[in-house]
Amino acid sequence: MKKHPNEPLARHCWNKLGGPAECLVDVETEEELHRVLSESHAQQTPVSVLGLGSNLLVSDEGVPGTVIRLKGAFTEFSFEGHVLRAGAGADLRKIVSESVRRGMDGFWQLAGFPATIGGAIAMNAGGRWGEISDTLLHCAGFHLDGTPFQQTAEECQFAYREARLPGIVAQATFSLQQGDPDELRLQFKSVMREKGAAQPLGASNPSSGCAFRNPMTGGTRRSAGQLIDEAGGKGMAVGGASISMDHANFIVTTPDATSKDVETLMKQIQHLVAAHHKVDLHPEVVQWPSPKNH
Ligand SMILES: Cc1cc2nc3c(=O)[nH]c(=O)nc-3n(C[C@H](O)[C@H](O)[C@H](O)COP(=O)(O)OP(=O)(O)OC[C@H]3O[C@@H](n4cnc5c(N)ncnc54)[C@H](O)[C@@H]3O)c2cc1C
Repeated sequence: MKKHPNEPLARHCWNKLGGPAECLVDVETEEELHRVLSESHAQQTPVSVLGLGSNLLVSDEGVPGTVIRLKGAFTEFSFEGHVLRAGAGADLRKIVSESVRRGMDGFWQLAGFPATIGGAIAMNAGGRWGEISDTLLHCAGFHLDGTPFQQTAEECQFAYREARLPGIVAQATFSLQQGDPDELRLQFKSVMREKGAAQPLGASNPSSGCAFRNPMTGGTRRSAGQLIDEAGGKGMAVGGASISMDHANFIVTTPDATSKDVETLMKQIQHLVAAHHKVDLHPEVVQWPSPKNH
């Protein structure tokens, strides 16, 4: 187990923003994870779990308590027939590639975004081709007090970019279908091409993916990006944070940006869309610490 006191989370978040974790702890086995959780619970230390930090907005002041990262055994995955078993720290992009290579259908639908398996389950990540909940059978992990849990996909109560999880996911099992490798490769390439053309994906455009959830209005889920675009938001900026010219629901940052810049810009976007469309936008990015606790 490796402990990194006062570790700047900007180093570990996709948008390159965020103050320090009081203590970032890398755990490599279930025993270590169990130990950290039990100790933190006994000391009443708050605990958070970090994936690839691709959907996070960490405040400039940082995060109190222990931030856990799942490394070592948690990054492994294996295919056994139609069943995929993956540690919650496994890189989704590697699993997508390997599933396509093996001709297994069910994960190419998740191509083109960075995630760990745990982060993808917590966010029910996906898009118009499918979501991670489509193939999940069950997951297992630990409550924050260190006691183990196991739950089925149904018990996760998946919804749009949401899951009900009782704690930290440590591993997950999925059911895939046999497919035609050539066909899957074409599907994978077409998703990558479409995303590459529509979203700011390069390292020179750090972001946290979609800033806002696509809102439900009149029984239909509408594109937050389209609403922001129609309201004239493209190009709006605060400090080093600006609305991407490629996709209006992406906030991209320059090296001098702060999380405060992003938070202020998000509030301005919410006002703009409320005034223009009479629609409330709600953040999709997970804010640390949660604004509700401020
Ligand atoms: C360029 C770009 C494109 C993107 N495109 C998409 C897209 O098309 N579709 C989409 O859905 N998302 C997209 N995203 C957002 C992001 O990739 C997903 O939400 C992803 O699933 C986050 O995974 P993560 O491992 O980085 O989680 P993090 O961002 O590190 O964490 C997100 C949340 O998951 C929780 N979490 C992480 N690991 C665990 C665990 N083991 N157990 C319990 N909770 C956990 C965290 O505590 C946090 O609340 C995009 C992001 C970027 C930067």
